[in-house]
Formats: sequence, structure tokens, C-alpha cells
Amino acid sequence: MKTQIPGFREQLTKLISIPSVSSTDPLKDMSNQAIVEQLATWLEELGLNVEVQEVKGHPGKSNVIAVAGQGSGGLVLSGHTDTVPYDESGWQHDPFKLTEIDNRLYGLGTSDMKSFFPVVMDVLREIDLGSLKKPLYILATSDEESTMSGARSLLASGRSLGEYALIGEPTGLKPVNMHKGILFESVKLKGKSGHSSDPALGINALEGMNDVMNKLLSWRNEIQSKFRNESFRLPYPTLNIGSISGGDSPNRICGECEIQLDIRFIPEMKLDELRASLRRQVLDSTDGTNLIVEFDPVFPGIPGFETPADSDIVKMAEKLAGEPAGSVAFGTEGPFLTSAGMQTVILGPGDINVAHQANEYLEMSRINPMKKIITELVKHYCM
Ligand SMILES: [Zn+2]
Repeated sequence: MKTQIPGFREQLTKLISIPSVSSTDPLKDMSNQAIVEQLATWLEELGLNVEVQEVKGHPGKSNVIAVAGQGSGGLVLSGHTDTVPYDESGWQHDPFKLTEIDNRLYGLGTSDMKSFFPVVMDVLREIDLGSLKKPLYILATSDEESTMSGARSLLASGRSLGEYALIGEPTGLKPVNMHKGILFESVKLKGKSGHSSDPALGINALEGMNDVMNKLLSWRNEIQSKFRNESFRLPYPTLNIGSISGGDSPNRICGECEIQLDIRFIPEMKLDELRASLRRQVLDSTDGTNLIVEFDPVFPGIPGFETPADSDIVKMAEKLAGEPAGSVAFGTEGPFLTSAGMQTVILGPGDINVAHQANEYLEMSRINPMKKIITELVKHYCM
């Protein structure tokens, strides 16, 4: 039975051929249904119990939760089904056709992170699932690259999965136990335009924004001296004001002005509290000005992620990978799995340097070491 299921190469070819772009731009966003159905079919054929969990509020999006073995605890092997949008003009080959050149497999999602699933299924094929003493879960989520709606919905569903989790994001086979959280915010001030010759004819939003920005920069100093985590290369939160727009003419009072900013915060800081504090700074500095303030989170944000260095899964990953655990500069579903009760480590065969761009590839030399790591983790946590 198991032998009828296609092998690594055939599976990856199929997964790469199924477009599954997720994007906050509705024109680019796609359903992940086809890839979910394909994974569900293979995992069922391999003998796992498979559930397709619809992501509430996101039509056409689902997670796959597959399990072998019974009881509590166990291990979760987790990945996302979606890719970022692509620009075909930059690709030297069809991004949806797996292409091998010089021991690299090219295609959209090869590194980030469709290859993870065929690697996992290669391991499943060689394991006697009947001998598992603790459950082994395979989790495939939606929308990691956009809203993380899949991981959020899993957390909201209250489903308890294993005690330990590995997320196969592209880390070049290095274990990762921490990353900063991400908060975006748009701040818009609405005043009133009028002729520049008499300030009383309007309310200048640009001048109001100047005060807001000064306030935010001094708040930045405050949070940077208050919150520190020496495990990060930059051991403090960063705040970047990345865009400003407003006004149209020197002889008009600026009626509307907007900035957008990005905060990367250490895991000790809580996303909601940080956003509330940010908004308080803005409201304080516009108090008594008659400016109307509008906030927009741009996207819901990602909490910071940290699994203690002495956690068993971190120690195991370090041992198997032969590398110390560290941090990465991108967000993952790690904090959501942690909140759902799993001690989580991130370790996968792809490379983040080639992800999210044209001519993404997977180094084929990573496949067997990744298989070995997963096999050992399954033996350690489930057998
Ligand atoms: Zn990814």
C-alpha cells in the first residue's frame, strides 16, 4: 500500500505545480484547497488519520491536521502550504515546474517551504506507524506568508496537539529558538486644509505629525532602555518610521498626514500592550489639537518567539543538527504553536536567502540530513 505513494521528487514536483499564493492583496491571494487536498490524500494513504480544518473567516483556506499513534504528548511536524506572490519576469524557469540544475531544485516554494512535506512523508514511509507509543502529528497551515490565519485559527480552536513541535521553515538546517515580534502601524492625522497665509483657516496635520514623530522617537529610547534580551544581535526593540505622506502645496495648510512604522520587539514584550502603548503616545501628543487620529494596524502582527534554550526540543535539535540554536530575523508561526502548548523549534532544509525571490531553490544536499533529523526526533518523542 505504502509503496504506491509517489516518492520525494514526484511529490515535490506536484506540490510546486499547485499555485498557493497567499497575500493580503485580494487580487493576488489564492485558495490553498488544492494543495490541502493533495497532502490529505497522501497522508491518508500513508495510514494517518487526517482532518481538514477550515479556517474560519477565510473562505477557501484550510489547515491539514494528520496524526498517527494515540495518547497525549508526542511530536508535531509543522509547515505552511502557501507561498509568497511571485514576479514571473525574474524567473529563468517556470516557477511552477520543478527544475533541477547543479544539485539544486528550482521552483516557487522549494525552500519556503513545500519541500518539507515530501521529506516528512519520506520518513513516514519508512516508519512502522503501528509501533508509535506517542502521537505523531503532521500540521500544514494556510496563510503563513500573509495573515497567519491558519495558525491563529488552530490556536483559537483550542485543539491540543503534541508536546513538542518542529517547524520546517528555511533555516539552512540550523536550529532556531527565538525571533522578534513584528508590529506595523499606520497613524493618520486629519486636520483641515486652508490658505497658508492665515493659520487660523485650517488645522495643520503635518505639524501635528512632527510632534507625533518626536514623541515616538523619544518613546523608542524609553523602550530600548527598558527592554533588552542579549541573545539577539540587536538586543533591544527597533522602531522604524518607514513612510510619510501628506500635504500637496507650500501655500496650503496640510489637511491630512499619515506615517507607517514597523516595530521589531523582543519576545518579553507583548504585542497588544505594545500597540496600546504606541497609540497612547500618539494620543498624548495630539491632545488638545483638534486633529482627528486614525490608527490602522496594517496587519495583525506577530508575537515574539522564544523557546527556552534548555528546552528538550532545543537540546535535541542542537544535538542532531550539530549547531547551537540561535535567532532569525523573520517571523514564523512559532509563537502560535507555543501558545497552543507546544515547545517549538524551527529547523528546515531551505535557505531564507533564496526565499521570497525569483529563482528560489533547495540545495539537494539538505534533503537527506533533514530526513535523518526528523527520523531521530520521531524516534525520540514518539517511540
Ligand atoms: Zn515560510
